[in-house]
Parts: sequence; C-alpha cells; structure tokens
Amino acid sequence: MRRPLFAYALVAAVLIAVVGLTYYSYRNTPSERLVLLDTMRELAQEKVVGIQTEIIKEETAMFGRVDPDNLADLKRALEGSNLRSVLVLDDEKQKVILWTKRQEEDTDRFFLDVVVPDLDLDRVLLDQRKSLHATYNGLWHLFGYTSRLINGKLYFIIVESDIDHLRAKVFPVFFDVRGSHLYQVIDRDGDPVYGYRFSGVPAGDVVELPFHDTLSQWRLRVAPRDARLLASRASRRATLDLILISAALGVILAGFFVMLWNVRRERRLSELKSEFISNVSHELKTPLSLISMFGELLSMGRTRSPEQATEYAEIIRRESVRLSRLIDSVLDFAKIERGVDVYEFADDQNLADIVGRALDISRHRLERAEMQLDAHLAGDLPPVRIDANAITVAVLNLVDNAIKYAADGKRLVVDLRRAGDDGVELEVKDFGPGVPEDERDAIFDRFYRSRTVRLKPIRGSGIGLALVKHIAEAHGGEITVATGDDGRGSVFRLWIPAHRES
Ligand code: ADP
Repeated sequence: MRRPLFAYALVAAVLIAVVGLTYYSYRNTPSERLVLLDTMRELAQEKVVGIQTEIIKEETAMFGRVDPDNLADLKRALEGSNLRSVLVLDDEKQKVILWTKRQEEDTDRFFLDVVVPDLDLDRVLLDQRKSLHATYNGLWHLFGYTSRLINGKLYFIIVESDIDHLRAKVFPVFFDVRGSHLYQVIDRDGDPVYGYRFSGVPAGDVVELPFHDTLSQWRLRVAPRDARLLASRASRRATLDLILISAALGVILAGFFVMLWNVRRERRLSELKSEFISNVSHELKTPLSLISMFGELLSMGRTRSPEQATEYAEIIRRESVRLSRLIDSVLDFAKIERGVDVYEFADDQNLADIVGRALDISRHRLERAEMQLDAHLAGDLPPVRIDANAITVAVLNLVDNAIKYAADGKRLVVDLRRAGDDGVELEVKDFGPGVPEDERDAIFDRFYRSRTVRLKPIRGSGIGLALVKHIAEAHGGEITVATGDDGRGSVFRLWIPAHRES
C-alpha cells in the first residue's frame, strides 16, 4: 500500500516542480514588448543627448569667442554660427554689445527689458552654463548664458539659439524618417512642435524623455513605426511559447506515466512468476506423492483384491500422464519464452482428425468429471497449414480448463467449422461460471489466474491459456473468450486462417 502512495507523491512532486519551473522561467523571461520599450528608451536617450550636445557645443564656442577689445570679431563669429544673437553685459549688467541676426526692431529692449530679468544672472557661477527656454509673444526662445572673467573683469554672455534652424536642420538629422521608429517633439502642453501626431500607436508603446539642459520645456516622444505588427509578433511569440511549454510538459508527464506503468507491470509480473513457481511445485508434488503412495502399496502387496491392484495401477498411470503433460507444457512455455521456434508446420492437415484425437485423449477425464461431450466436427473444412502437436496441446488445454473450472455445468460442446471463406473456427463451450468480463484479456497473459480460482483448491499454473494464445498467433489466428448465448458458461473460440495456395 505504501509504494503506490509514494509513487503518487512523486508524480505530484514532479508536477509541482515542472509547473513551478515553467512559471518561474516564463515570468523571468522579459516579454518582447518590454525589450522593445527598453530599446526605445535607449534610442530616445541617445537622440536627446545628441541634440543637447549640438546646442551646447555651439553656445560654448560662442562664449569662448567673446573678447571686449575686439567686438567686431564677435560679429563675424555670430554670422558664421547657427546662433541668432549674442549679448555681452558688464558686471553691472549693462550692455556692452548686442549682435543679432533678428530683423525686428527694438531688439535691445526685448533683450534688456524682457529676457535679462528672466535670467538667473546673480547665481550663474564663473564659466557655468545655464539656459532659459520660454515663450515670448507666443514664440519659443532658447537662451544659454554664462559669466566669464576676461582681463580681470567680469562679463555676462547671453546667446540665443535659432529654434527655426534647430527644427529645420538639426532635428531631421537625428530623427530618421525612414527608420523603424517614429519621432515627435511636444511642448509642455503636449502639442507637437516637431513631427506628426502618432496615430494607431497605443499609449503604452510610446517612450517620452525631456531635454533637461536645453529645450527644457519640450519632450521627445518615440514610438515603433509599426506597432500593430510588433503586437501581433509578440502575441504569436506568446502563443508559440505556450505551445512549446505545454508540449514539453506533456512529454515529461507522458514519460513519467510510461515509467510508472512499466514499473507496475514489472512488479506484477514478478509477483505472478513467484506465484507460478509455487503453483507448479504444488502441481508436481501432488501427482508425485500419489504415485509414490500407490506404488508403495502395490510393492508391499497391500491390496485386498486384483481389482484394487488394477485401480492403484490406473491411478499411478493417470498421475504420471498428468505429470508428463505438466512438464511438457512448462518446457514448451520455457522454449517460447526464450524465443525458440517450437513449431513444425505442415500443409493440408486434417484438422477434424487432430481435434478428434485430442478429444479422445480427454474423453476418459471428461467421463470421470461426469461431463457430457457433444462434438461436431465438420468434414468440409478448407485446407490449413498447422503444427498438429501444437493444435493438440491447445485443444487439450481448453478441454482441461473446462473440466477444471466448469465441471458443474455437466456439458461440453466442441464445434469445429468453417468460418466464412477465409478460416476455420474451433469453439469450446462449457456451462460453468464463465470468465468475468474485466478478466477476458488478462486470462491469456502468462501466469495469470482468475481472482475467483485463486481462492479455490483448483490446481493450475496460469500458463495454459498463454500457450493457447501463442499457438493461435503462431498460426496467424486468434483466441477469444465470450459468454454463452444463454448468459452461462464460457465460449473459447480459436480461429485459424485457411491456407491459400500461392
Ligand atoms: P490455469 O488453469 O493453470 O490457472 P490457464 O492459463 O489455463 O491457467 O487459465 C487462466 C485462468 O483462466 C484460470 O485460472 C481460470 O481462472 C480462467 N479460466 C480458464 N478456462 C476457464 C473456463 N473454462 N471457465 C472459467 N474460467 C476459466
């Protein structure tokens, strides 16, 4: 009882382990979507850094060109750059110079009265760069500023980037229109200032990053160009993963069950074998002790009459026949088990004769069991190719079983007839207890004895029907068992194919 329990516990443990492992690895494998989002975040980061570097490089180059003694040079520098304006203030925050490419009038006032008050000039450290990104009159402006000591004097330098130039020339270099991603720059209200609105892209598939140090009011958005394709690829991958995982699970479980089934079968077989050994020893011992007992009585002359002596001799003869039959079938069985070819087939055998002779051998035993034999052996049988000895063994086994298990039925009907055009059928029908339906396959297994007979004192080894089955199959035929028409007894049918001349 403990062993199956252990096996079930093992199955449960393996199942839990497999399911747990599968779940763990499934959870820890990043989904394709997460990998995609990570890639996009890196890409966005790269673009933001690239654009900021361009802007800051231009600004710092201009900071370095400021020389209060040579301001005409600064104008040339501005014209050669992509910046819009450059303003230099002294330490009193008074204008030293303002160069600009702006066409508007009042640029001075715009810078000095509007922009400068918005700058954090008091807190900008020497050579530190700060920036201001803001709208004036509904238009975006970007300023970078710093303070520098030139010839021992402090100056504030403010440069204005050209946002139109950034949008028209710098952004397109970074945001490849033919790449696998879509780019968009939005302002703080979420309105696009560069690129188009993404259509059909789920919000969860968009990555957004701010431009911290320059265009601080704007944010870059990146999305996959073909979101639907990626989504369907991700779902296909998920389905494939699921199929593979289930298939692997199925294989593991199937392997496990096959192993368990094999172990159980082996165990059952070894139990049956040891039962067989004790049955056979018992079957050998009984006739032997009868033979030795009656032999002894005869040799000591302890018989009351010559009839009694004949009776004792008859017992000895009968028991030795039984003994030799048993030994024969054990030897035959052993040969078959070893895979030795034990059959000697011959063409055109007269099956009716062979069955008739086998029944004659059994006739005496049938009479002693008070069983009436009705034999119908048809004469017009098709030719068969058979091993006469093997068929005799099969008939004897079937009849012996009927005597052993169905003597109460008092009758045995043996029918040998044509079965259609293609075979011959031998039917052995008794009126005993029959074979329970769930054991109708098992009784043909080696060493198998029915549950009901194991409890009764009926001798047997469990190899008789296994031999019959082997013989039937060696002849290309089969053996089956059924219940009689009236629901009583058992009907064994041995079918053998007719031999076709080729
Ligand atoms: P054995 O007779 O040595 O037990 P067999 O292989 O000849 O072995 O038979 C296997 C089992 O089939 C028997 O133990 C018995 O339970 C069952 N059996 C065989 N023939 C009959 C029958 N005619 N009626 C009922 N049960 C049978």
